[in-house]
Amino acid sequence: MASDPSARAPKGTVDMLPATARVWEHLLHTAEGLFSLYGYEPIYTPIFEHTDVFVRGIGEATDIVGKEMYTFEDKGGRSITLRPEGTASVVRAALEHNLTANGQSAKLYYAGPMFRYERPQAGRLRQFWQIGVEALGMPEPSLDAEVIALLVRFFEAVGLPSDRMRLSINSMGDDACRPAYRAKIAAYIRDHSGDLCEECNRRADTNPLRTFDCKNDGCRAVMAEAPLLRDELCEPCATHYAAVKAYLDHLGIAYEEDPSLVRGLDYYTRTVFEVQAEGLGAQNAIGGGGRYDRLMEEYGGPPTAGLGFALGFERTMLALAAAGVEVPVPPVAEVFVARAVAEVAGDAFLICDALRSAGVAAEIDHQSRSLKSQFKLADRLRADYVVVVGPDELATGQVTLRDMATSNEERVALGDLPTIVLDRLGR
Ligand code: AMP
Repeated sequence: MASDPSARAPKGTVDMLPATARVWEHLLHTAEGLFSLYGYEPIYTPIFEHTDVFVRGIGEATDIVGKEMYTFEDKGGRSITLRPEGTASVVRAALEHNLTANGQSAKLYYAGPMFRYERPQAGRLRQFWQIGVEALGMPEPSLDAEVIALLVRFFEAVGLPSDRMRLSINSMGDDACRPAYRAKIAAYIRDHSGDLCEECNRRADTNPLRTFDCKNDGCRAVMAEAPLLRDELCEPCATHYAAVKAYLDHLGIAYEEDPSLVRGLDYYTRTVFEVQAEGLGAQNAIGGGGRYDRLMEEYGGPPTAGLGFALGFERTMLALAAAGVEVPVPPVAEVFVARAVAEVAGDAFLICDALRSAGVAAEIDHQSRSLKSQFKLADRLRADYVVVVGPDELATGQVTLRDMATSNEERVALGDLPTIVLDRLGR
């Protein structure tokens, strides 16, 4: 079976086994709690969309649309694509359901798998999991700062120390100033064509700004001397960018300006940002995003401001591991109900059920284990307490409650057990 490739998860995908899935859920709950403090509500869009949603939104000349999409024709002859990212779908849904009609704003968050046909490596998968937010209908620079702060605070909330991450920001201008700058960079690329790789030369015609992202040392050296958009922003873009930075300063959010940060998607306007983590090698961007004030119009909607970020689950896990941070995942069972002898199995079963009804995560053995093996199982489930059900205690209406951390044991009246356990668990 194991040598049969179809018996394994496809290349670039991983099974999220319980230990990892619980970390994902912890991150998700942290995000839900934090995002709701900032006024965000959940949204779930389909995992696949009409291909055009991504082609129009992300842009034909981007790596994602050009090379990385999982696109197929469905049985009805429609071109369908597994979503490579969340923003395009959320904006499509917001337009379809009029979430931003009549000048309303919407703050939304999503979570789930994304699909990109990339070359798998550490921190780069073909199916990976993202959590993201999208804030629609608000052009003000205070929102840019709020969204950036939220991304940083999420990483802090899951335990990533501030000195293990770096926030970079930039402005990509808008339709007033970027076209002229793009033309300037295209000309610059042509002037230096001999010193740039084939791909970068091609980008002169398709997506010149992406040349800043090339990892090739020669290209980087050339692009380090290229004119910077920062110096060519139109007045409204420059004012917006200055205000974003002022708000970040007020919030005490540390950032670095990276004038070559362009990010790979066409839809960004003005503010873009990225958080990179220590110890991850090449794939060190753990989250990022930006403003996309023209995206809704791409879908035929009215001009509607938008801003958002997405963070990657797998890379966040790698960053936490590299920083030596253990994610606090609750035990599988808070209480394990063990029976001393087979005769009390029915009583133990009911005691376990009563604990669960009281809201305690309780577990019991269903495989007729010995008492010793039941204790081993309790350890494996990281139970805080073990209730030992024995015939003698039962005869007096009692059980033994053992604190696994201190090995302390006490007799407890059956009727009081749920209340006492909840009290011990601090609830
Ligand atoms: P992007 O949509 O490219 O800005 O990605 C946002 C975040 O998703 C990144 O910062 C990563 O954490 C994560 N991410 C993007 N692509 C991948 C991938 N192929 N594998 C794993 N994580 C990814």
